[in-house]
Amino acid sequence: MTYPDLKIIIGGKEIQALARDGEDVYDPATGEAFAKLPHATADDMEAVISSAEAAFPGWRDKAPLDRSAILRKAATLIRERIDDIATAMTKEQGKPLAESKGEIAYSANVIDWYAEEGRRAYGRIIPASLPGLSQIVTKEPVGLAAAFTPWNFPALTPCRKIGGALAAGCCLVLKAAEETPGTAVMLVQAFHDAGLPPGVLNLVFGNPADISSQLIDDRRIRKISFTGSIGVGKLLVRQAADTLKRTTMELGGHGPVLVFDDADVNAAADMLAAGKFRNAGQVCISPTRFYVHDRVIDQFTERFVSNVKRLKVGNGFEEGTTMGPLANQRRLEAIEELVGDAVERGGDILTGGKRIGNAGFFFEPTVIRGLPDDCRVMTEEPFGPVAPIVGFRELDEVLNRANSLPFGLASYAFTSSLSTSAAVERGLQSGMVGINTLGVSNPEGPFGGMKESGYGQEGGSEGLEAYLETKYVARAS
Ligand code: NAD
Repeated sequence: MTYPDLKIIIGGKEIQALARDGEDVYDPATGEAFAKLPHATADDMEAVISSAEAAFPGWRDKAPLDRSAILRKAATLIRERIDDIATAMTKEQGKPLAESKGEIAYSANVIDWYAEEGRRAYGRIIPASLPGLSQIVTKEPVGLAAAFTPWNFPALTPCRKIGGALAAGCCLVLKAAEETPGTAVMLVQAFHDAGLPPGVLNLVFGNPADISSQLIDDRRIRKISFTGSIGVGKLLVRQAADTLKRTTMELGGHGPVLVFDDADVNAAADMLAAGKFRNAGQVCISPTRFYVHDRVIDQFTERFVSNVKRLKVGNGFEEGTTMGPLANQRRLEAIEELVGDAVERGGDILTGGKRIGNAGFFFEPTVIRGLPDDCRVMTEEPFGPVAPIVGFRELDEVLNRANSLPFGLASYAFTSSLSTSAAVERGLQSGMVGINTLGVSNPEGPFGGMKESGYGQEGGSEGLEAYLETKYVARAS
């Protein structure tokens, strides 16, 4: 088993688990602790901010082409180490090994994207408003940034933030999820092995509230980027208000899927059954509320359920596993509660509905029909392997129901009609819309939400802009 020695990394200096108090890391497939993670002390936090501050002028002033070369080299190393990193990820997060590898390959592509995009941080020249005046707009890195990433995508979420920050010329303090630290350690290692100067990218772990407070309260940190729950996002935005930091918030969602009666219903059911249970449903852009036209709901449901019954739940290391355990005990309890509420509200469980065994955090892929729109699984982000299916009749009606929640991250529709597709694209209140596809996430596209799902984007040119300041210079000759 390849699992790295866990450490915090400050200014290129590594502090191992034995040197600090910390916490255990658990294997979600067994529920057993298998590694020790060091926590950063208050002194470590001061050291990490100082080392990022010391590294900033050198990194900011490096030619973008040279920064790009280091990022590209890091992406290459991540690809070369894919087997080891994927093994660590499956061990600590639970997802099937093939999914871990897919995520790491995608993460390397994200770094490559930013390596190139960082060379295009263009400003502009504005025609003079007076003779002899130069009017110039330039882009500068915001400075020191702090990133907080969750456990569901232990490589991709950090890489989106690392890529944007470093390509823009910022230095970053990454607080990765304490539940999945091994992946983060291996990623940061790849950047240092690629020649990244010490202090440009730092890695800390600890009590999330303590660490984030120390970083957010410090005036030297000028930008924060958080991926996680809406509740924590709101808290961090409030904290960041005191020093008016720039913030990017990638928060939860509750992705509606609209299946119209002119869609290729079987193809939609096949695609959605595979997509919904990826990463055991612990995906912020997962399709999570299935609105299916009354004329095709029986056909859709039958096909969807037969796909779901073929999923193989098990340890992510076992050959053929298509769905691993939930990542932690909290998710298991949350899903049990949502399913319990659905049953009380009259839902008909078509498959699944129960925890599997009593070792590890396994839950059956679950499909429920016949629910009211106001039950918990239809209104709270499920973040787990539960698919509620309800019917609809009219376009306006289903758009209103899809838009009725405070979330606005990803939405999906399946239709063969151009006019329905255009109405849905315009009408859905969400940062990402997939029509006849679930593929709304890729390095070159902006990834982000509306409403309480947050603001700011990662990926695309927007992902670089998030780490840049705009400066306007008027120069008289
Ligand atoms: P949580 O709210 O306890 O934590 C979410 C993430 O935020 C974790 O990574 C955690 O370490 C971090 N966090 C918590 N308090 C923090 C603080 N004060 N400062 C900085 N980081 C902090 O929830 P959870 O039980 O870990 O996850 C469940 C919920 O989180 C899900 O229902 C889902 O809504 C949301 N979530 C969303 C994403 C996403 O990709 N948007 C990822 C993971 C979790």
